[in-house]
Amino acid sequence: MTLAQQDASAASSTHRDDTPQQASSTLPVINPATEEQIGTIPANTTTDVAAAVERAREGGREWASYSWRRRCDLLLDLGRRLADVADDLALTDTIDSGNPISGMRHDAARAGEELRYFSGLGGEAKGDTIPWTASQFGVTMREPYGVVGRITAYNHPLLYAVGKSAAPLVAGNAVILKPSEHTSLSTIRFVDLAAGLLPEGVLSVVTGTGAEAGNALVEHPGVPRIAFTGGVPTGRAVLRAAAEHIKHVSLELGGKNPMVVFPDVDLPAAAAAAVSGMNLRRSTGQSCQSTSRMLVHTSIAQEFTDRLVTLVDALRIGDPQGDDVEVGPLSFNEHYQRVLDYVEVGKSEGATLVTGGKRPVGLDRGYYLTPAVFTDVDPRMRIAQEEIFGPIISVLTWTDVDQMVELANGVEYGLTANVWTRSLTSAFQATQRLDAGMVWVNGEATRPAGVPFGGFKHSGIGQEGSLGELLGYTREKSVIINLV
Ligand code: NAD
Repeated sequence: MTLAQQDASAASSTHRDDTPQQASSTLPVINPATEEQIGTIPANTTTDVAAAVERAREGGREWASYSWRRRCDLLLDLGRRLADVADDLALTDTIDSGNPISGMRHDAARAGEELRYFSGLGGEAKGDTIPWTASQFGVTMREPYGVVGRITAYNHPLLYAVGKSAAPLVAGNAVILKPSEHTSLSTIRFVDLAAGLLPEGVLSVVTGTGAEAGNALVEHPGVPRIAFTGGVPTGRAVLRAAAEHIKHVSLELGGKNPMVVFPDVDLPAAAAAAVSGMNLRRSTGQSCQSTSRMLVHTSIAQEFTDRLVTLVDALRIGDPQGDDVEVGPLSFNEHYQRVLDYVEVGKSEGATLVTGGKRPVGLDRGYYLTPAVFTDVDPRMRIAQEEIFGPIISVLTWTDVDQMVELANGVEYGLTANVWTRSLTSAFQATQRLDAGMVWVNGEATRPAGVPFGGFKHSGIGQEGSLGELLGYTREKSVIINLV
């Protein structure tokens, strides 16, 4: 057994007897780099979820009674525990998800940053005073919801477990995490780190399928606030189920993000940004903010594509535990097959596969795929419209700005966009017209803590990563006070 296998096996069985993880059945944990089973996770049932909610309600009451300062100090302690095992958790994520180790180390560091950022904002979950008359005024106060259900996607497991717990916990809620059934290990381990530090039930995890454990969380009347990260179809199902209980729901959904390239750019820099914007090193292109649609001015399209293809072909694909590996396997077989299918769809629709889209030579096992670039892409093609969530880039061309805007906005998504130009005027004019919740001008991928992130159109409801997220885990109560 390799070090990696030992680590993952230990993680997969990590749950205390007093946690709600009492499920009698389990789901297999597959290492996508080897296709081998390396452990199991509990397949929690509706009954398990109900037990978790009960404990969260109790723990949440105690947690909410603490001063914000005390809560934040405890969360900073949790951050220190996390930092002590960050490398180990990064390795767990790499084994579980197939994401390159350098990316998962980055995620572990970023997770700690999110915890520190929101802990620093603790005192901001406050109300207002509204003057009225000399003897009558209004005040507002912000109260936690009680229990928050946090359902997350598979692509950045630890980062989501930590980063997406931070704001609701700081606001005084108990959090029940429901990680993806494909990558649950680091979430289980993160929750274990809180044992003996946070009151019992304040941070817990339920694992298993979305249809059972995830849906049970959404349907439980004791969870008034649901925050979901995942695909659009699941987001719709969550909204529908939550409607029954009129729950407050926020959604971080998919993207089909344009990177607009004007003819005046520094071409090598723009081509390099197109590759790093795909987030291959962090998640093999399985990223909601991947720059999967290149919208390139016709006059530079050929040179840009040549440079892009050269860079894509030079990427190092292989065992994601390798320090210098830039592209790992896709995270699970069903998704691997879906992405392979998109390669065929693109070809059959008439696009030109310039490079990639194949199993790499020498990697006979594992869900590996060479990153692909398509040209001659018509905007009506499925590969131009649908989120592939993998290492596939489509290059489309434009000649005037109105046409570019129409192309950029002509999809159901509106998560992120990138605009590359040396002209401030072109950058601002394009940015104003793009339907996207986040726009990078001459940049890509990186997002400092505190910058709100969220989608327009079908890409979601609400924003995360900023003060607004913290306030979104509070209910504002207005009080009118009469001085008698
Ligand atoms: P998914 O929608 O398949 O699953 C997401 C989570 O929902 C998982 O934990 C799953 O178990 C759970 N789930 C499934 N069915 C459910 C149900 N009926 N009720 C409640 N929960 C249910 O998504 P995925 O494949 O894990 O992730 C990929 C998607 O997530 C992509 O579309 C990607 O763009 C999106 N994503 C968005 C962001 C963002 O910030 N906008 C970030 C990461 C991923």
